[in-house]
Amino acid sequence: MRSSARSWGIMVLFMAATTAFAQVSLPLDKVETQLVAKYGEAQRGRIHKGLHQVSEFWRAEDGNAEDFEGFTADNFAGDQQTLDALFDRLQFAFESLDGHLLEVGRDWRRQSDLDLGTVYPFDDIMNGFDVTAHISDDLFENKLAFVVLLNFPLTTLDERLKEGHNWSRRQWAETRLAMRFADRVPASVNAALATANASTSQFVDSYNIWMYHVVDGSGQRLFPANMRLLEHWNLRDQIKADYADPSKGLPRQRLVLKVMERIVDQTIPSEVVDNPGVDWDPVSNKVGPAKEKDADNQPRGLTGPAPRYAAVLEAFHANQLLDKYSPTAPTLIKRSFDEGREIPEDHVRAMLEKIVSSPMVPRVAALIKSRLNRPLEPFDLWYSGFQARAAYDEAKLDEMTRKRYPTPEAYHADMPRFFEHFGFTPEKAKFLADHIIVDPARGSGHAMFALRRGDLPHLRTRIAKDGMDYKGFNIAVHEMGHNVEQIFSLYNVDYHSMAGVPNTAITEALAFVFQRRDLELLGLAKPAANAEAMYTLNEFWNTYEISGVALVDMEMWHWLYDHPDANAEQLRDAVVQISKDVWSKYYEPALGGHDCTLLGIYAHMVNNSLYLPNYAIGHVIAFQIEQQMRKAGKIGSEFERMASYGDVAPDLWMENATGSPISADALLKATEDALTGVEKGA
Ligand SMILES: [Zn+2]
Repeated sequence: MRSSARSWGIMVLFMAATTAFAQVSLPLDKVETQLVAKYGEAQRGRIHKGLHQVSEFWRAEDGNAEDFEGFTADNFAGDQQTLDALFDRLQFAFESLDGHLLEVGRDWRRQSDLDLGTVYPFDDIMNGFDVTAHISDDLFENKLAFVVLLNFPLTTLDERLKEGHNWSRRQWAETRLAMRFADRVPASVNAALATANASTSQFVDSYNIWMYHVVDGSGQRLFPANMRLLEHWNLRDQIKADYADPSKGLPRQRLVLKVMERIVDQTIPSEVVDNPGVDWDPVSNKVGPAKEKDADNQPRGLTGPAPRYAAVLEAFHANQLLDKYSPTAPTLIKRSFDEGREIPEDHVRAMLEKIVSSPMVPRVAALIKSRLNRPLEPFDLWYSGFQARAAYDEAKLDEMTRKRYPTPEAYHADMPRFFEHFGFTPEKAKFLADHIIVDPARGSGHAMFALRRGDLPHLRTRIAKDGMDYKGFNIAVHEMGHNVEQIFSLYNVDYHSMAGVPNTAITEALAFVFQRRDLELLGLAKPAANAEAMYTLNEFWNTYEISGVALVDMEMWHWLYDHPDANAEQLRDAVVQISKDVWSKYYEPALGGHDCTLLGIYAHMVNNSLYLPNYAIGHVIAFQIEQQMRKAGKIGSEFERMASYGDVAPDLWMENATGSPISADALLKATEDALTGVEKGA
């Protein structure tokens, strides 16, 4: 019932969204003729494109045909001098707007973000305030957005990739400026999307399995009392953890696998979800009242034949509402690949398929088999045994970092030394340390960027009363990597609209270059070759896993757009089939398990539409960047060169950074080297 009430809410919003913005018939040809007469034939291309762009977003409330005519005649920058003035004005003004609003937001969240004592209810209100929420609406309303659309070209990803190589920096800056207004989504549609997102997140956040009540065929309890595992994260991590338990591990892993498959195909009895009041044997699928009690909890009370897929449909329908407001990317799939990550879907798919069908898969699988001394089973997709023995005792490391870094100031004071260790000149090292503010974080830590020159990025780090522990230090070094990237990609980039790096995978990869060398900063030795190899094999196996999960997610979204009227049961059947198909092609040869549906288990498929490919892309980019750092033999100047390039399409960024577009080659090469070393017994 709750779910149908939500769908109804979306439908009402949808009707409002379609009726409120009647199209106006606009005199495009007439204005084009007038403007060409005024500015000359050479401007016709720009005039035609600009008028068309404005008309795509112009609604009745923006004015009638006459208003359109007057507005476009007044605001078309038909000569270079006016166009330069407009461009410069906007670069300056948006840097100020973006940068200052970011500062305001940071100040409003200060009490919540920093370790500064009590958080009162009013702090929560301040924390939830988004000062930028209505900026885009305001700029359409005062028509500045239309001025941008009239004068600067919107582009497709295809154009940016094909022609972007030959563009000047100024052309890229103009492209990024226009993209700011590539869609105009009515507030009612954004609200519908927010409602759907909140609802799917809630669905996922309480999808717990009470493991004490998951019993085997003879009624045995394999898991401890009060153990509550969230789908899919905790279930997956339980499989990983159970490699350490030689007696109970294997039967537990087999049982968790069965739980997962019953979630994917939704044969899980609904009363089992988040309910410690019943015992459940996932193999026979029998449910009965709990014979032993460990916890009180209100059961979820899910209804319908396939509630998991009803939640996915809700996300799909909400995302569909945006389609018609996004002329250059009219599906979620397009928005996700072409606008979000800016890597063509075909390119991503080919890369994922290259990983899952790589000759490294059977070789790594054989190595796992020999380490486990048994044939592999499907859950070995989460094999966690490629961990090198820790070279240093963590308690000793804690002692070391606590003594050195009792306060944020102490960490800050040591930063110039860190930077010099990474190969920055003493002057650059001092410049970087002077441009990062270190704050005491309330949570585990984060890096907060800046958006205008003059403002500084912040390093938020966790420091307990007795000083910074090693985990905190490790995170601080990671966040510091983000901060250094943030300084270069703001201060060194020539145009504000190109500030930053193209995507989060790139910034994470750069931060990781610092993080993986944190022990060196404490004066400790680099990890041994074997530890490096184990690390690489672990990364490869993780990438192999997540690539298949991402392929299933992508197929599901295509199926949804191909079957927009499907119900939850049809979607369930489709996802089960897609999961089986991907499994039998790329996983069954290594892991067995005919018709295994495991790849459909990720909760992101429900509440984080098409996010999953990002993880695989992240692994791939991290290996490319690390490989380039090693090839260059120095970090400092190489890091600065990469991070200063600005926000162009990711493939172009990677070509500048590493000499090739985004590719799995570096990951596969590193895996092959690691395997060869390990197979030789190195
Ligand atoms: Zn990070």
